Amino acid sequence: MKAAVWYGRQDVRVEDVPNPLHPPPEQIQVEVAWCGICGTDLHEYIGGPVYIPQDAPHPLTSVRAPVIVGHEMSGRVIAVGDGVQNFAVGDRIVVCPIIGCQQCRWCRSGSMAQCDKVAFLGSSWWGGALSERLNVYAYQCFHLPDTISDEVGALVEPFSATVRAVTTGKIGPDDNVAIVGAGPIGLMALLAATLRGAKRVAAVEVAHRRKETARKLGATDVIDPAKEDPEKRALEITEGEGFDVVVECAGQPMTAQLAGKLTRTRGRLIVMGVFEKPAPLDLTDLVFREKTVSGSMSGYGLYDDTIRMMTDPRFKGEELITGRIPLEDLVGKGYHGLLYEKESNVKTLVSPH
Ligand SMILES: [Zn+2]
Ligand SMILES: [Zn+2]
Repeated sequence: MKAAVWYGRQDVRVEDVPNPLHPPPEQIQVEVAWCGICGTDLHEYIGGPVYIPQDAPHPLTSVRAPVIVGHEMSGRVIAVGDGVQNFAVGDRIVVCPIIGCQQCRWCRSGSMAQCDKVAFLGSSWWGGALSERLNVYAYQCFHLPDTISDEVGALVEPFSATVRAVTTGKIGPDDNVAIVGAGPIGLMALLAATLRGAKRVAAVEVAHRRKETARKLGATDVIDPAKEDPEKRALEITEGEGFDVVVECAGQPMTAQLAGKLTRTRGRLIVMGVFEKPAPLDLTDLVFREKTVSGSMSGYGLYDDTIRMMTDPRFKGEELITGRIPLEDLVGKGYHGLLYEKESNVKTLVSPH
């Protein structure tokens, strides 16, 4: 079968690899329909390895490079291993990329994403979603309802991460929310906050096309820090208070600092951005104004909620999909398109068939 294999930094090859064997007990074999390209895929490609084990085997799965990449997938069950219940050949599913040890305190308390030895589909697992087929554990799989297409189904994984952020931020109808950075994750966080009924959801962004997409997806306000004073504008929007919740989705030193400032007294700052190095935050401001800062990583445990939210007609998933490409175009149109034409690309989906 065809698969995209990470060999090293800037060395990802689409090549023929052996088919996965019949799934072992508790596992399912999935035929991939679509797989989205994620920001972490770009980090692995351009500056990796980040999560891919290269020098030593992964402590849980023993996987090491070269590995098949990809983790934002939808697909169809084509075989089931012994002991698998609730799934049958032909079922349409999505897959949570997190694989835990099942033994540590985090795995035993329902927080597998925090597992000390956590493994991820597409970086430390025996298969990735940028391939025709792969085996995964049944506990990673969730049914996709008929009302969600395979293409939009590939958005479940990244959207679930933003559902977690709005859950952590306890966003509800009384909240004025700001999303800092309207890239793929920021735009999904905007949708998640809107679907949770936030009073206002403002997008903070400088890029023209992203500002437009934010408006289309329901942003009540768009703040452009290159053209206006964002703090002044925030106070105007929120009747002098600042935002109840700010979700940082840009991962830059400047945006971290700004996100902290836009948060009101006793407000919540949720950090989703992936930072290349430590970023500054005014801790004295946090102390005096008693602001709370939380990190938020992956949507583990929230897939049912996420899928239910995506059946809401206000979830305009199609607006986020800006490209559909075959696996052969992964590096050129896929990675390079997202890295060097950020303005015109939000989410690129890849079909391995
Ligand atoms: Zn992802
Ligand atoms: Zn564990």
